[in-house]
Amino acid sequence: MTHTKFLLPEERIPTTWYNVVPDLPDGLPPMLHPGTKEPLTEADLEPLFPAELIGQEFSTAREVDIPGAVLDVYRQWRPAPLIRARRLEKALDSPARVYFKYEGVSPAGSHKPNTAVPQAYYNHRAGVRKLTTETGAGQWGSSLALACSYFGLACEVYMVKLSYHQKPYRRALMETFGAAVTASPSVLTEAGRAALAEDPDSTGSLGLAISEAVEAALKSGGTAKYALGSVLNHVLMHQTIIGQEARLQMEMAEDYPDVVIGAAGGGSNFGGLVLPFLREQLGGGRTVRAVAVEPSSCPSLTRGGYDYDFGDTAGLTPLTKMHTLGHDFRPPSIHAGGLRYHGMAPIVSALKEADLLEARAVPQTACFEAGVTFARNEGIVPAPESTHAVRVAIDEALAAREAGEERTVLFTLSGHGHFDMQAYTDYFAGRLQD
Ligand SMILES: *Cc1c(COP(=O)(O)O)cnc(C)c1O
Repeated sequence: MTHTKFLLPEERIPTTWYNVVPDLPDGLPPMLHPGTKEPLTEADLEPLFPAELIGQEFSTAREVDIPGAVLDVYRQWRPAPLIRARRLEKALDSPARVYFKYEGVSPAGSHKPNTAVPQAYYNHRAGVRKLTTETGAGQWGSSLALACSYFGLACEVYMVKLSYHQKPYRRALMETFGAAVTASPSVLTEAGRAALAEDPDSTGSLGLAISEAVEAALKSGGTAKYALGSVLNHVLMHQTIIGQEARLQMEMAEDYPDVVIGAAGGGSNFGGLVLPFLREQLGGGRTVRAVAVEPSSCPSLTRGGYDYDFGDTAGLTPLTKMHTLGHDFRPPSIHAGGLRYHGMAPIVSALKEADLLEARAVPQTACFEAGVTFARNEGIVPAPESTHAVRVAIDEALAAREAGEERTVLFTLSGHGHFDMQAYTDYFAGRLQD
């Protein structure tokens, strides 16, 4: 029997997250306090995050238990399917076996609820009443709005103004889940007012929206905290549910990837897929090529320096050592809004420095071309972010054909593109620029 879908039963959902930090060859450089530039302490983060998440951010334990209440929510759509792209393989006339882990089955349509749910849960347990956050394309905002609705928390989202107007349905989705959505820059915060004073027509940026959300939490008098959808260690750890499931599913397929691929904005779906496979390699087991794919218009990993930098525009966040284009870098308004971030996760950056991963930058029209090929063969319209992974997966399959060799390719299809059809319309009309 040659299967196409590899479905795990609910009983086999992994019950721990994997923390790669103790397995990193050179460890992680410490985060620094934005004011004193001294190594950050757990207490420094208390105004922003609940104790449990701070503990996870600094944790050196290899495994962390997933709380039962989080598993209960995961079970609504997890385990996510692993699918072999047989029709795509055939269309490419490639001897490669191409698999994708499909995260678009979550209620928000992407992998982001994998971390939104535990973040909302730990905040709820700590007595927090409201979470503030930013969103670019709207994927993270809808995921956190969803998670807050599960645990009865209020949710305040600062949405990059460009997307606020371009993606009214993402905004409507957040509001349906009960969130309050404000276009950023806004007049509600000092950071927003300063940006508007400088440029009244500013369409915003992710870095600026982060400044607004952080400021709103800091000024809440302790009732609100802040949540971040990518980059941080605890976020990547929560996302390892993806790769742990995928490892079990590759076993069901009696196969093992030669190459694992993910689109990289802040690095969380990439890390989530890849880290459990690197664990096998770092433990002396099978090796794997890991490829992080970013847009050539925002190439933090391929072109950015490995330096200490802020996570936001105003410089309110801790300094982290990461691949960065600089916290005042303004990425052009490409359609993959979730990949328009100046920095990269410290964990992914450290893996790059240790030569444990490859980074590739690709232009957006080549990505949409791959996304359309994928949709016409596999029937799923990829999110613009996810088309970056699709592009490189297709290139790997074509390279296998060229070399006349078998090759097993695995990538995360991090989300569907049902809220992003304007991007496809623009692509078909020839309006996309590289
Ligand atoms: C947010 C997002 C990304 C990029 O974020 P990472 O943290 O790098 O995973 C990729 N794909 C989708 C669908 C997203 O929503």
